[in-house]
Amino acid sequence: MPRVVIDYSKCNLSKQCMDVCPVGVFDIQDGKMVALRQDDCTLCQACVQSCPQSAIKVTDEPPMPVEEQLKTAKKS
Ligand code: SF4
Repeated sequence: MPRVVIDYSKCNLSKQCMDVCPVGVFDIQDGKMVALRQDDCTLCQACVQSCPQSAIKVTDEPPMPVEEQLKTAKKS
């Protein structure tokens, strides 16, 4: 199962990941980019390659719930 991790200390909301993701994994919540539909991720790595901030990592670990992602964002 894919886990899409956004490093919030780097993300500047360029939205490149939203533009390139072929399955619409990304969404913006509370003013932060989140990986909402990680179950749909095909591990294509297009988001990783397109991010100008190198802020995205995609692994085959279990997905991180959006609430946890936003907690991470608040700490960054
Ligand atoms: S790896 Fe591909 S499918 Fe998965 S979130 Fe990134 S762009 Fe979307």
